[in-house]
Amino acid sequence: MRLLKFSMIIVIILFPSSNACYYQPYSSVVEFDCMRSSLIEEVPGTPGIVTLTSNCKDYRFDVRSIKTALDIFSREYALQFNVSESAAMALLSGLRIELSAIPRTVPAAYSVEGIFLQGEVAVSGLALDRDNIWVEVRTSKISSSSLIHELVHTIIWRKNIVHADPDHEGKEFSGWTKEHTKLIKRVNKILLDADI
Ligand SMILES: [Zn+2]
Repeated sequence: MRLLKFSMIIVIILFPSSNACYYQPYSSVVEFDCMRSSLIEEVPGTPGIVTLTSNCKDYRFDVRSIKTALDIFSREYALQFNVSESAAMALLSGLRIELSAIPRTVPAAYSVEGIFLQGEVAVSGLALDRDNIWVEVRTSKISSSSLIHELVHTIIWRKNIVHADPDHEGKEFSGWTKEHTKLIKRVNKILLDADI
């Protein structure tokens, strides 16, 4: 009898209730291996926007999440700057979004406040030129990456032709306004709420 009781306890412990739930949070990040899929992937439903990784084995945001982020960005940009959503998306046409989990440093950079920083500055994103941005994949969410921030640099660079306003709200370069900063915060908040 005692032995039977003991074995029942074991059974109960080993086979917990089938009602138990396991919540796995959604991740916008996917592992990438260039031996298994092509390095450059087009973001569907966009004007030729593509994504790629810095390294053959790396991490990237999945294109579905990038598409949602670009749609939200275009909608909010349109509202902020009084243009149509398609015109806002067209400002990013042909953009190459390079992603990597491996951080980068640059010899000098401006903070968002416009303060000039020198000597091995760790950056989470870079506007490389008018057609290329680099974004670090730091967490499983686009909302905590610099993607939206770099999209703003791209649009300013394409409008200014010669620079992307590297000092943001600083006074040395023109283009970046408080509205751009507000837009980035708002879009990232929407992405955070949407678990992207
Ligand atoms: Zn910046």
